[in-house]
Amino acid sequence: MSGPIPEQVIAEVRERNDIVSVVSEYVQLRKAGKNWKGLCPFHSEKTPSFNVNQEEQFYYCFGCGVGGNVINFVMAIENLPFPEALERLAERAGMTLIRKPLSPREVRQRSQRDRLLQLHYAAQKFFSHNLMGNAGASARNYLSRRGIQMETAQRFGLGFALPEWTTLLAYLEQQGFSPADCLAAGLVLEGRNERYYDRFRGRLMFPVCNGRGQPIAFGGRVLDASQPKYLNSPETLIFSKGNNLYRLDLARTAFRERGSAIVVEGYMDVIGLYEAGIDNAVASL
Ligand code: ZN
Repeated sequence: MSGPIPEQVIAEVRERNDIVSVVSEYVQLRKAGKNWKGLCPFHSEKTPSFNVNQEEQFYYCFGCGVGGNVINFVMAIENLPFPEALERLAERAGMTLIRKPLSPREVRQRSQRDRLLQLHYAAQKFFSHNLMGNAGASARNYLSRRGIQMETAQRFGLGFALPEWTTLLAYLEQQGFSPADCLAAGLVLEGRNERYYDRFRGRLMFPVCNGRGQPIAFGGRVLDASQPKYLNSPETLIFSKGNNLYRLDLARTAFRERGSAIVVEGYMDVIGLYEAGIDNAVASL
């Protein structure tokens, strides 16, 4: 287990990754006086207002106001958190990052985080398996009525939560997770006398993923008229609503290619657009 990276190492990563050469991997830059110029990858434009200053090692866009150093650029364009952007640049420069050891509290948090990720992964497998099986017929019918092909459903990792009380819980326990883990993941609720039951029942399930495409939460839609129509995971150690856009992980490449993004309201809008050939849509959560 390792922890934060010392400041001088961060400085070295910056020194060994020239900003012009890193940005050039994404943007066609032309020399213009002292600066380099290109079309901004963060907003849609026809005349270049995206500037890279090699001397000072920073970028700035006069069109949309984004700017920063080489690490900020990789964070923004790859949608990566700081440590991962740093890691990527270190690797690019052939460096091995040496970190400070983690405190016991950080170790606990990190292993709890990993556990929640594994649990979500298992839950997603379970839900997709249900969708493909006999019990998933009603959900499959719903998708086909909405014009969603099974191939698309699989691309988005859709699944089905059975209309029963404890099937997910039982499955996860069988996979080695405790009811406390399931509770921390927000996938079960606690009833009376320490009895636990599944949060999502009889719903079409949409995994919400982080930037690496790992499921970190779920949204569930009813197939009939019952309420609420959509039910979402609560905030957990690995999921905060303000920080995630639905399917940003899948749409990121399309963003870059098209230079634009469409933000829609719901999961089904993103999937419906994808089905119609529009792959640069995400939904706010
Ligand atoms: Zn811009």
